[in-house]
Amino acid sequence: MDAKKEIWVFAEQENGKLHSVVLELLTKGRDLAEKSGYTLCAVLPAADGAPLQQELFNHGAKKIYALTDPKFTEYQNDYFSKAVSDLILAESPSIVLYGATIIGRSLAPTVAVMVYGGLTADCTELDFDTEAELLLQTRPAFGGNIMATIICPDHRPQMATVRHNVFKKEPVSDSESGEVVEAAVDISDVPERMKKLETIEEMIETVDLNAADYIVSGGRGIGKPENFEIIRGLAEALDAAVGASRATVDAGWISHHHQVGQTGKTVCPLVYVACGISGAIQHLAGMQTADLVIAINKDADAPIFDVADFGLVGDLHEIVPEFAKQLNAIRGK
Ligand SMILES: Cc1cc2nc3c(=O)[nH]c(=O)nc-3n(C[C@H](O)[C@H](O)[C@H](O)COP(=O)(O)OP(=O)(O)OC[C@H]3O[C@@H](n4cnc5c(N)ncnc54)[C@H](O)[C@@H]3O)c2cc1C
Repeated sequence: MDAKKEIWVFAEQENGKLHSVVLELLTKGRDLAEKSGYTLCAVLPAADGAPLQQELFNHGAKKIYALTDPKFTEYQNDYFSKAVSDLILAESPSIVLYGATIIGRSLAPTVAVMVYGGLTADCTELDFDTEAELLLQTRPAFGGNIMATIICPDHRPQMATVRHNVFKKEPVSDSESGEVVEAAVDISDVPERMKKLETIEEMIETVDLNAADYIVSGGRGIGKPENFEIIRGLAEALDAAVGASRATVDAGWISHHHQVGQTGKTVCPLVYVACGISGAIQHLAGMQTADLVIAINKDADAPIFDVADFGLVGDLHEIVPEFAKQLNAIRGK
């Protein structure tokens, strides 16, 4: 197993913009590179990737493998998987990371088959075992009841898809530089099995939890569906999006679009206010990277307080409307 000491991040992009999970993976990749002594690289298939290179360097890539072909204007699994797997077979990196996006979830398993490598899907944590020189890939298992750390000792590369928003994105500076390797691409004999007929713009969701800076979430503690109005009241006062626990979604109190957690959305806001949410591990998996967590719960022993920066023990029906009232007064609303 003579693999190159390199960590690759697949640089997913759409319409000339990098997906933010790429910047999160590079930020985490810097830690892994420091621990392992490996070189952090980005793999950028694009029709014209040059305008994206600076952002990749700024987030820690030391080397970019540029795969250039007009067929990379839009994602097509056959073209991308052939190009990425050919590059992996030619360069033999130790580690390849992908976002667990729609594209990453399609590309990574196809590449894994083509390079006969391992793949751990939907990771929520990554680390590096310096002694064994192994990537430690952690993800929920057995219905989310345990967190399993998976290793790939016998094959290279070690590959993982990682959920969006589980790591922070942080540039090193805005003027980093590195090496660009123009990699050879030959996808001329890949048959055109798919043809795009038209693009239908996705309906814009009213709840963009992934992008929200402020989120107010309601749990079973609100008591009944109508009480989401209390949550909405505070959300309006804060210009926040409304989130929810699975208990409320399963009860039909609010739509699944609002669910935060392992089987919902992973969010990373500046402020997350949890109202009447106990703090089950599956809920925490979706929100614990928030910069600031405020918890309101009548049970002082609720596990949500273990991750809260500020905790208010009491009845949410009294606290939340008062909180909204005070905020509105301060903000002149
Ligand atoms: C495979 C799997 C995946 C899952 N995925 C998710 C997921 O994505 N997201 C998720 O949220 N859950 C998920 N769950 C469910 C999770 O285990 C919990 O059951 C769920 O998060 C509980 O929701 P809750 O906190 O709203 O309800 P509860 O656990 O019932 O907590 C309600 C809380 O409200 C408090 N409370 C009650 N009345 C008041 C009041 N008047 N004022 C203040 N506080 C009050 C109580 O003290 C309690 O702490 C998953 C479970 C499994 C097995």
